[in-house]
Amino acid sequence: MTPANDTPYPHLFAPLDLGFTQLRNRILMGSMHTGLEDRARDFPKLAAYFAERAEGGAALLVTGGFAPNVVGWLAPFGSKLSRPWEVSRHRQVTRAVHGHGAKICLQLLHAGRYGYHPLQVAPSRLKAPINRFTPRALSARGVERHIADYARAARLARDAGYDGVEVMGSEGYLINEFIAPRTNRREDAWGGDAARRMRFAVEIVRRIREACGPDFILIYRLSLLDLVEDGSNWEEILQQARAIEAAGATLINSGIGWHEARVPTIATSVPRAAFAGVTAKLRPHVGVPVIAVNRINMPDVAERVLADGQADMVSLARPLLADPQWPAKARAGRPDAINTCIACNQACLDRIFVNQRATCLVNPRAAHETELVYRPAAARKRVAVVGAGPAGLACATVAAERGHRVTLFDAAREVGGQFNVAKRIPGKEEFHETLRYFRHRLADTGVELRLGTRIDATALTEFDEVVVATGITPRKAAFPGADHPMVVGYLDLLLGRVEAADTVAVIGAGGIGFDVGEFLVHAGPSPALDSARWMAEWGVDARFESRGALADARPEPPARKVWLLQRSPGRPGARLGKTTGWIHRATLRAKGVQMLGGVEYLGVDDHGLRIRVEGREQLLEVGTVVVCAGQEPERSLADALRAAGREVHVIGGADVAAELDARRAIDQGSRLAAAL
Ligand code: FAD
Ligand code: NAP
Ligand code: SF4
Repeated sequence: MTPANDTPYPHLFAPLDLGFTQLRNRILMGSMHTGLEDRARDFPKLAAYFAERAEGGAALLVTGGFAPNVVGWLAPFGSKLSRPWEVSRHRQVTRAVHGHGAKICLQLLHAGRYGYHPLQVAPSRLKAPINRFTPRALSARGVERHIADYARAARLARDAGYDGVEVMGSEGYLINEFIAPRTNRREDAWGGDAARRMRFAVEIVRRIREACGPDFILIYRLSLLDLVEDGSNWEEILQQARAIEAAGATLINSGIGWHEARVPTIATSVPRAAFAGVTAKLRPHVGVPVIAVNRINMPDVAERVLADGQADMVSLARPLLADPQWPAKARAGRPDAINTCIACNQACLDRIFVNQRATCLVNPRAAHETELVYRPAAARKRVAVVGAGPAGLACATVAAERGHRVTLFDAAREVGGQFNVAKRIPGKEEFHETLRYFRHRLADTGVELRLGTRIDATALTEFDEVVVATGITPRKAAFPGADHPMVVGYLDLLLGRVEAADTVAVIGAGGIGFDVGEFLVHAGPSPALDSARWMAEWGVDARFESRGALADARPEPPARKVWLLQRSPGRPGARLGKTTGWIHRATLRAKGVQMLGGVEYLGVDDHGLRIRVEGREQLLEVGTVVVCAGQEPERSLADALRAAGREVHVIGGADVAAELDARRAIDQGSRLAAAL
């Protein structure tokens, strides 16, 4: 490697020579499904989405997954490349990317038994625990036809102008299902011992190379950690990597964890670059460059992975959704200007799973590049924004970027609103990055900041536009003894104004109730900051030797005994994020938290909290009761201004507090600012 000498990240910006072609740096944009891949009419939007990321400086982009045939669909009528007439739409994408000096590979993804439709196929007739459909087992002829389908799809990708393909061989999709004993019970030429189980993968790579020639990038995404029982062991993984290289792969990308794995792999509580060690373990055994993945979200992390020799490239997926200019900002030595992916999954994966277009919590323009455009303002207005939480910060900075003269007021001494509370939760350390980004952006866009300034209805007369982003007030719960000294609000607890006893009841099991649970049970530094502790807690074999790299989970003892309660029947946490709710529930379960639904609060006295569940009264002998009973809009300023005859815009929690999250707050703030 010849390090670049004009940047603080010399390894990250060193070119990579693939022999027949060169990559301009070590940044691969990892594959993400946005929902724009599924319809021909959305391809102009898809091209704009990729063009921004190519312009931002990534070297090699990978599309979302395209199935090589109909039975490989992720969902009915999902993205697919199997017919000549499907080629032309892709040329918009490849031209747009090449116009900015980047290269692009199409990902070939056959969903196998993860396909959410009745046509799905798999090596054996075994239903996935996360799907309601049972697959049909492929016949030997069916296997041969599938290999031909992969080769044909790769050839079509080449015709469409792609520089290569990525073959998705991990995450528990079809190819991975052939490789792992967990899902391959065949006894023919495609199952049995490790060599026969991997034959499908090797044949696909060989036939693609044959069909597309030597000057075509072929990335193979190899499952280095299955994180499920009866997954591959290390010896089999090495054998597979060597065979894949011999069959013609140009690069090996790392795959971490099947979708049905019960170990988090990309959530915000996963330590940064937690899995780079397994890529490092593979690297000396193969001749092709290897790519490290997952939770590499800032340039110093990426540079360290490369400088330490753990990998030859880094894959950034969600970080480039959050900030397409990530590479350019890093190269220029401006990491503070990066809008960091906080790994929340709220606006990307959680939306894809309910069939909505992906976007990004911190960047509402992601996958909406042609629809949410920040044009220079026609006339420069004086804009007051009251409240520097996520809604106000987004609104103020976008309005200032468009050329308005913006003043941002907050009663607090720092910007960020409730994010200053959220960042104190163990596993939510990334929220600090959003606050750092906004502080930087306020300075960059020239917003005048007036902290420690509480605004009342007599102020703001000199402004053309007034935006009220005053957030929420926590809801008070009504039960006998609610004014007992042991009853505290979540803000008092999280901001350190009160100390919790050793036994605690939490009233309300929404997002904040769960976060308060995490805050109460963890002692000392967060495991999210220490990979070894984190792997021990989740049962990952840190030597990556065992089948599926699983070990016995060793959760650290809880700091307190906690009960987490809600009035609604059913299990608490059912409404948490689709891809992250199970992680919160599993963490609290492992820490012995008692979660109860259908609870009636009878009252608090010196003995604790009396509740009734399923007709039975109980006394929870707790020393602290924390109320997390939701939130009400803080609209007193907006109401007073309106009463005084002022027109105001109300956004974020001040507008609607119910089911408010930061995604809605930032989106609403940005959209209003785009229209002012
Ligand atoms: P706020 O963040 O409440 O900001 C309002 C601001 O207005 C405050 O800074 C306040 O000081 C100021 N203000 C109020 N009145 C005045 C006045 N008269 N004059 C001047 N200033 C005033 N959301 C997620 O999406 N994902 C999460 O994982 C998540 N985790 C959370 C964890 C915790 C512990 C908490 C507390 C919240 C969490 N949230 C999360 C919710 C998220 O923080 C809120 O949805 C978001 O902050 C709302 O933004 P906002 O700008 O509307 O209001
Ligand atoms: P919430 O999700 O509305 O939950 C409020 C909880 O309080 C519910 O369990 C509710 O259940 C209970 N409750 C409501 N009224 C009550 C009353 N009068 N007395 C007793 N209990 C009552 O609100 P939140 O937890 O405050 O979270 C606010 C928002 O922040 C959420 O909407 C969420 O989007 C966001 N957030 C997100 C995350 C995340 O990880 N994505 C984390 C934190 C916060 P019952 O009515 O059944 O008792
Ligand atoms: Fe990252 Fe959250 Fe944005 Fe997804 S929505 S890209 S996880 S910040």
